[in-house]
Amino acid sequence: MEKTSSHVWNSCLQIIKDNIPAQSFKTWFEPIKALRLEGNVLTIQVPSLFFYEWLEEHYVGLLRKTVKKQLGEDGRLEYNIVVEKSSTSIPYTTNMPSNGNGAEGKNQSMPMPISLNKDIKNPFVIPGLKKLQVDPQLNQNYTFENFIEGDCNRLARSAGYAVAGKPGGTSFNPLMIYGGVGLGKTHLVQAIGNEIKRTLTDKLVLYVSCEKFTQQFVDALKNNNINDFVNFYQAMDVLIMDDVHNFAGKEKTQDIFFHIFNHLHQSGKQLIITSDKAPKDLSGLEERLLSRFKWGLSADLQIPDLETRMAILNKKMYFDGIELPSEVIEYVAHNIDNNVRELEGAMVSLLAQSTLNKKEIDLNLAKSMLKNFIKNSSKEISMEYIQKLVCEYFEVPIEMVKSKTRKREIVQARQISMYLAKLHTKTSLKSIGAFFGGRDHSTVIYACQTVDDLIDTDKKFKGYVADIQKKLKMS
Ligand code: ADP
Ligand code: MG
Repeated sequence: MEKTSSHVWNSCLQIIKDNIPAQSFKTWFEPIKALRLEGNVLTIQVPSLFFYEWLEEHYVGLLRKTVKKQLGEDGRLEYNIVVEKSSTSIPYTTNMPSNGNGAEGKNQSMPMPISLNKDIKNPFVIPGLKKLQVDPQLNQNYTFENFIEGDCNRLARSAGYAVAGKPGGTSFNPLMIYGGVGLGKTHLVQAIGNEIKRTLTDKLVLYVSCEKFTQQFVDALKNNNINDFVNFYQAMDVLIMDDVHNFAGKEKTQDIFFHIFNHLHQSGKQLIITSDKAPKDLSGLEERLLSRFKWGLSADLQIPDLETRMAILNKKMYFDGIELPSEVIEYVAHNIDNNVRELEGAMVSLLAQSTLNKKEIDLNLAKSMLKNFIKNSSKEISMEYIQKLVCEYFEVPIEMVKSKTRKREIVQARQISMYLAKLHTKTSLKSIGAFFGGRDHSTVIYACQTVDDLIDTDKKFKGYVADIQKKLKMS
């Protein structure tokens, strides 16, 4: 009997299905169609260029093996890539190099077979149809005008301004803004976005936090529309990604962002990124992503000095139409010296106090209010909370941690949760074990030792634990 393309491809799918997780199979293999079989060349159709790249990067080894199994040593696979919403399709061929034998050719660098990139039309700009409209997700209140300049932010601010004038057209690509909590990262990058929208109205600008991006990605996986997700992001002219340190430990999300990043960068689009640390100090991020972040300019935001803090407060009061005695401004600026958000928070509480109690805002009120404000609220940390943080951090479901599963990532999340529970709560070993899925106290001791050992020997792991502890302390 003569083999048809679908016979061959279905036999390949049977093997592939047994070798990868069901979800990956659903996402990456179900949408593929077998097109034709000519001699020993099987042509399959994939929905986009991105799909092709992903298959070649993650599954080339597995594909090679299965195709050869079906078609013999000379068997080859060709791709046909659909350019969305047009009938054109582009033939791609894989080199199927004969080295390597792992199931996943993860680190194989596959040369792009034919450089047809330029022929691929942006799927969102369809001639004759309305151009893609995007809500940039920007807060109009964050502008350059009300971002006070000081020594603490001069480089970052002026680089941001240059980028806003010529997105994608400066050497500051990506522009990476980093600094501690509440020092104005979000404000500054949103100001860049707002400025671009104001002066270059037809640019597609999008602001997204790393958390939201991760959530959208997880949803896209669930709903099987990864392709739409990626196409959407790849259509932007300016992509602002806030808080990339939150990518730590989320390998799949980093992978997808890496692809989007490359695509945008190659097409001369502007990337703007924020993070709480300099690229070299970020832990839990893949090296190839970090190295991309270093391509452009990294500029830090530091703690503003007293004069700048006073200027920020004055400007804020001015915008809100409130007048305050200068000694009050100075007192607040002097006492809250680590973070602009707290500075503003103190001012808001001060205003609230004065309105509620119908008291004038003077130095005395400021003093009594600040006493409460500075006081440290060290509330108890619960095991539930530790578990929630850890599970969010590693993107694993809470039920799994309590279950019996021995999957590596679940075991890791479970052991770190136990370790942190031992460290930060007064709970007994017995109760900790019971809480995390009815285990006994020796399991908890073993978990704590394991985590201790890994912290000493594995830098990446140490970074995970430090990150989670930081989140614990912030709450
Ligand atoms: P981050 O994203 O770094 O945590 P935000 O951008 O959210 O910090 O800033 C916290 C608050 O401080 C915001 O309300 C922001 O407007 C204000 N802020 C920070 N830096 C400045 C500045 N240089 N001038 C004016 N406001 C600032
Ligand atoms: Mg922020």
